[in-house]
Amino acid sequence: MTKYIVVSGGVISGIGKGVIASSTGTLLKSLGLRVTAIKIDPYLNIDAGLMSPLDHGEVFVLNDGGEVDLDLGNYERFLDVELSRINNITTGKIYSEVIEKERKGDYLGKTVQVVPHVTDAIQSWVERVAELPIDGEKPDVVIIELGGTVGDIESAPFVEAMRQFQFRVGHDNFCLIHVSLVPVVGSVGEQKTKPTQMSVRDLRGAGLTPDLIACRSSKILDPSVAAKISMFCHVAPEQVLAVHDVSSVYHVPILMRESGVVDFFRRRLNLDSIKISDERRLVGEELWTRWTTLAGSYVHIHDSVTIALVGKYTNLHDSYISVYKALEHAALNCKRRIEINWIEATDLENDTLNTDPLKFHESWKALCASDGVIVPGGFGSRGIDGMIVAAKWARENKIPYLGICLGMQIAVIEFARNVCGMSEAHSSEMNPTSPTPVVIDMPEISKTHMGGTMRLGLRPTVFQPGSENGRVRKLYGSKDSVDERHRHRYEVNPEYISTFEKNGLQFVGKDTTGQRMEIVEMDDHPYFVGCQYHPEYLTRPLNPCPLFRGLILAAIGELDAAL
Ligand code: GLN
Repeated sequence: MTKYIVVSGGVISGIGKGVIASSTGTLLKSLGLRVTAIKIDPYLNIDAGLMSPLDHGEVFVLNDGGEVDLDLGNYERFLDVELSRINNITTGKIYSEVIEKERKGDYLGKTVQVVPHVTDAIQSWVERVAELPIDGEKPDVVIIELGGTVGDIESAPFVEAMRQFQFRVGHDNFCLIHVSLVPVVGSVGEQKTKPTQMSVRDLRGAGLTPDLIACRSSKILDPSVAAKISMFCHVAPEQVLAVHDVSSVYHVPILMRESGVVDFFRRRLNLDSIKISDERRLVGEELWTRWTTLAGSYVHIHDSVTIALVGKYTNLHDSYISVYKALEHAALNCKRRIEINWIEATDLENDTLNTDPLKFHESWKALCASDGVIVPGGFGSRGIDGMIVAAKWARENKIPYLGICLGMQIAVIEFARNVCGMSEAHSSEMNPTSPTPVVIDMPEISKTHMGGTMRLGLRPTVFQPGSENGRVRKLYGSKDSVDERHRHRYEVNPEYISTFEKNGLQFVGKDTTGQRMEIVEMDDHPYFVGCQYHPEYLTRPLNPCPLFRGLILAAIGELDAAL
């Protein structure tokens, strides 16, 4: 029987519910269990595809092209699994399913209501995910993270669905972690329990009982405070889990394990009834050893490497969470701590009317002080000129550069203008009337991928003859092809490829038809690379993306030795 662990939140959002949920998954995986995850987002959007990164953080893309909440990225990275769009439930998805059934007459003339029709749809969806193979077989455990906070109007149908679900699957197969905040107030730093008491009351009022109350706090939870929570929230002392701020997210599973969480779940969910092969047990143990080594290295590494991230959503760092993680994983792999200089691209632009001189100088100073430059993905015109000058700076001064999606298009535009003499070269996204459109819209007529106008999801990139000696292919272990995730509409115009290659910009990876440019690599430069795909979506703490590793190695001057 599948086990379900619901993770709900109280008091406020943004206190690390996702990290606690994925850490729980990591702990269970270390026992050899197969773990999958569901993120519930109670908003009305069908998916995250049309949400602004500045509003809601990065749009994460899955193999199947699903555009989902960034928390799914957390699950993939922690659990080292590949999820699909059905692992992200939104109110929009549930309601459109229910309304579609209503229009087809599936409800046989009944009045269609939140209870039972919407709540049934939610429960069936969860059960569908539980049937979806993970690591080749049905999962043993499904972690369900309930977005928002208990008590919100919009999460109410999901809370009610979970209340019913606990009886559908039975007590031994369902448990709940409630993540709450214990604020520290006043000059003496008193830890206050009232918000937790009130949110647990809300939870119980909705018919759910916490099996663990995970108390997030900036400092170590005082034992008397934990005792008070236990007493006033009507749970045993061992059910109060203190999760204070630690030096990295990688320490959270370790902290939870030291607090006895694994044994708690073993008893509460009767985990010993699940058959785990010796081989899987061993895989779990190895995972845990590598995990603790990783967390340890995070503390012991002192040398740093500084990368300038030149983008257009830098005011909200969550807009680039996967890029940040990919840089962090790659840096740890190279025994470095990552430092990011966040640079808003418009601040690099020299527009006498609009430029703030102070920001202009500070941004250039930060760019010049960085060991490498990354220009990540983005949409629309704002900041394009700033990104182009950043690419020019990196190219001319032989500073390692990685351009992702828009960042690759920027590198190509810059090269066309300043090396190939096409002064008006542009992308037709920003200038539809450019006489030299070096980046154009190339709609994909896909047999396997349905839907909108965007090229989304996993696609192969084939390394081209002659790429063997380049750095990129070697970074990918000299493979013939690689599969990476995409999210874009525009691509480098195939008409200009021979001009670019003659001038020293090589297109070393293309799609299977040879018409779509996937990877560029510059001659005579320590590392100047662009990719049309988003390698950051597949980074893993213990297995960083090759192109990011290349950037970091080049930035610390060790790339050629490593290859
Ligand atoms: N706006 C560009 C395109 O649609 C780049 C997209 C991206 O960076 N994800 O092709």
